[in-house]
Amino acid sequence: MNYNKKTVKDIEVKGKKVLLRCDFNVPQEKATGAITDDKRIVAALPTIQYLLSQGAAVIACSHLGKPKGPDPVFSLTPVAKRLSELLGQPVEMAADVVGPDAQAKAAALQPGQIMLLENTRFEPGETKNDPALAKAMAGLAEVYVSDAFGSVHRAHASTAGVADYLPAVSGFLIAKELEIMGGALANPKRPLVAILGGAKVSSKIGVINHLLDIADTIIVGGGMTYTFIKAMGGSVGTSLLEPDWLDYCRDMVAKAKEKGVQLLLPEDTVCAAEFSADAAPELVDTMAIPDNRMGMDIGPKTVARFSDAVKDAGTVIWNGPMGVFEFPAFAEGTRAVAKALADTNAITIVGGGDSAAAVAQLGFADQMTHISTGGGASLEFLEGKALPGVTCLMDA
Ligand code: ADP
Ligand code: MG
Repeated sequence: MNYNKKTVKDIEVKGKKVLLRCDFNVPQEKATGAITDDKRIVAALPTIQYLLSQGAAVIACSHLGKPKGPDPVFSLTPVAKRLSELLGQPVEMAADVVGPDAQAKAAALQPGQIMLLENTRFEPGETKNDPALAKAMAGLAEVYVSDAFGSVHRAHASTAGVADYLPAVSGFLIAKELEIMGGALANPKRPLVAILGGAKVSSKIGVINHLLDIADTIIVGGGMTYTFIKAMGGSVGTSLLEPDWLDYCRDMVAKAKEKGVQLLLPEDTVCAAEFSADAAPELVDTMAIPDNRMGMDIGPKTVARFSDAVKDAGTVIWNGPMGVFEFPAFAEGTRAVAKALADTNAITIVGGGDSAAAVAQLGFADQMTHISTGGGASLEFLEGKALPGVTCLMDA
């Protein structure tokens, strides 16, 4: 995939109507609809403020939740209110996406003003990437700016289809993802060290396959460790195991050797008798986990070895916690690896929803070069897949 795309800085937006796809898919309190975390709205501000300051009229849009047609529970009205508070100027809310109200409000919108369309998923054509809907949305504006990185892996009308009808560029959020993550994948500063963890091997196959082609070192931790260990003849007790993927893991170990990729697996494991926050941690040899014990975290020898590999890296890509970090007694491995990333001079990139949450929860968020904001999108990015919301943008 070509990661070199035009951004808002590369086109004239003065006096133009700009359709801006944001990721305003915010968490809300069920009973009241109150926004419980406005991080995504705050993240959209730089692009919005830039466009407004350049004299564009901004028609913002987003999906929210998974409504089946128009449903007031999924209205973007609370987002318009919060966005207006953050911007310090009115945000006109349209009652529909491409209907008469949206059209009238878009037509009346002046340079320096901003409005918000109703939830794009109120239109059945959105998730089907219906050209008629894409064309109608495009008809509201003269330029399309995409800044919803969390949605670029979806070919929907508002994330990709609309680019067939308008000049399309990225906002600052997507531009940063492409520059840093795209750069690390296409032309990494070496050695490139990939740290993979999380729960399951099966959800990371695409990521492992792709990184095996480009990384110098692959480090495996977290729940996926035990399928590898079992595949290599170790005993894993009651640890998370995916029997269907044993052959795959065996294959990966062989492939890594063939390609000259260094593959590091945990030597020691912190295990427990049960999956519980109160379980007593016990340190064991990873290849010999007792029958009635499950691996919950990487041990100190492993931490030292992993940290050492990170120290001399040029780039580190991390996806997947090293252990069950949600339980404090089993968060040490993840914390130590986050610290190693914080301490290295390498470019450090964290992708994946739980990994980003772990780094934030453990207090290392501002010490990473980049934390990818899209959960599913960043995984597909790391798989090297062509992302419809990126390929649709104009090449730089
Ligand atoms: P991401 O969202 O960053 O891609 P995943 O969803 O793959 O990460 O994995 C995150 C989950 O993996 C966490 O909830 C964590 O508790 C779990 N996990 C990590 N290590 C283990 C383990 N040894 N056993 C069971 N679950 C684990
Ligand atoms: Mg996850």
